[in-house]
Amino acid sequence: MKLSTSSALLAAASFPALVAACHGDPHVARQVHHARQAPPASSAPAPASSGSSVPSAASGAPPASGVSAPASSTPVPTFTYSLLSTNPTAVPLSSINSAAPSSATRPLDSTATPGATPSFLPGAPPLPNAALLLPSNYPALDKPPPTDSPEVAQWKQDVANSGVTIPDIAPTVLGGCPANAAAAADTSRCWWTCGGCTRDTDVTECPTRMEWGLTYDDGPSFYTSDLLNYLDQQNLKSTFFVVGSRVISFPNILQTQYMGQHQIAAHTWSHPSLTTLSNDEIIAELGWSKKVIKDVLGVTPNMMRPPFGDIDDRVRAISKAMGLTPVMWTRISPLATFDTDDFNIHGGLTSAPQVLQNWENILGNATKLDSGFIVLEHDLFQQSVEIATGYILPDAIAHEPSFSIKPVIACLNKPLSDAYIETNDNTTNPPPVSGTGSAALSIPSQTNEVSGGSPTLSSSATGSAGTKGADSNSAAPVFGAAGSVAFGASIIALAGLTVFSM
Ligand SMILES: [Zn+2]
Repeated sequence: MKLSTSSALLAAASFPALVAACHGDPHVARQVHHARQAPPASSAPAPASSGSSVPSAASGAPPASGVSAPASSTPVPTFTYSLLSTNPTAVPLSSINSAAPSSATRPLDSTATPGATPSFLPGAPPLPNAALLLPSNYPALDKPPPTDSPEVAQWKQDVANSGVTIPDIAPTVLGGCPANAAAAADTSRCWWTCGGCTRDTDVTECPTRMEWGLTYDDGPSFYTSDLLNYLDQQNLKSTFFVVGSRVISFPNILQTQYMGQHQIAAHTWSHPSLTTLSNDEIIAELGWSKKVIKDVLGVTPNMMRPPFGDIDDRVRAISKAMGLTPVMWTRISPLATFDTDDFNIHGGLTSAPQVLQNWENILGNATKLDSGFIVLEHDLFQQSVEIATGYILPDAIAHEPSFSIKPVIACLNKPLSDAYIETNDNTTNPPPVSGTGSAALSIPSQTNEVSGGSPTLSSSATGSAGTKGADSNSAAPVFGAAGSVAFGASIIALAGLTVFSM
């Protein structure tokens, strides 16, 4: 079973209108959620009002692909990035925008064979037959799963039996930090969204300098195959944080990623802001994403990334109880999160040159760290994949001194087999719920009290850049009021045509 040419073209033709009809609110959420990437600390300071205009600080090689934005709007942003290399077959940067017509999707070069043995993963079961996946056996796509199902009842019991204490932290409400002033000020809950607080048990970086833990979120999608083909050409492996609903839509692509020795990790079922959910709802989101991955691959991931990075100690505890280690992206200051903002090209909320400027700023900061780093990128939309394969990855590959680009599990110096519950031998990567190893999570018992102080949070000492710490809420994210339920509904509709109709 694979995408036929005709259905792929049909999908490509139908994609833009449906996406355009569905994507508004989540994109708005993303736009304001992520602080823009600040230029490196040693660069000349950026204008205070925006990260979109950065004074020239070029002192190295002349730009390979410098770009200035067209003077069609005010103020005119200027960009000073310079790329060491671009892909000769890259889509022109000027064509990577929200108005770009959808390109024909590329069928997978090969599809995995049911029953194939993942020989690279000692102890892994044979690959299931994705054609047998029945969407009717799963919750509705892109909606929070019901909490009264037998499956969720079992997972709730598992959490209760885990021995992990779930802190009594009230859910937040949509609207981000301004709508949650008390929660934002409550440093004890360690809410990443409002201040960037992390715990030692969060993976926020790679330990070794110049190592890049490559990650892509929100797939699989129509364009994941383009990314996979490029990664194959370059012999690169990545971690993919996949949404359960997308796995239902594209099980073959997930199998290809897995059999290609990329790391598969969980990114919930319907991509909500987890801190806004009840305990049972969080369990349902994580449980169904684990289950559909297990059903398609035969193995269950033991790492997760919270959508929007929205995690606090309650979400951490539930994740731990469900055997999942949180993986964030590197953040060294309120204005220097390692977020390319690539997701927002599709919705027209940022531009391709701005994303490349963000990328160069990330590079400038990354090369100054004593540790490695993790960057937020996505493979849901065509534009994100085009800028990754055409520009960001070629530039990174050409970097001197070179980066070591690898999946998160590998940058943590662990074998790929440690990334799945069934194949983890629990020696180098003790499961978080065991409490016997370094992965044990220490969550302080607490009440949901308001500290009353300034809304300043301290990040945990996971970074070595020395710049983590005090935050202001000036760059606080604000969630779109509608949340992210409609996030991928359009893809689902199309996926029904392209995947399950044959
Ligand atoms: Zn996401």
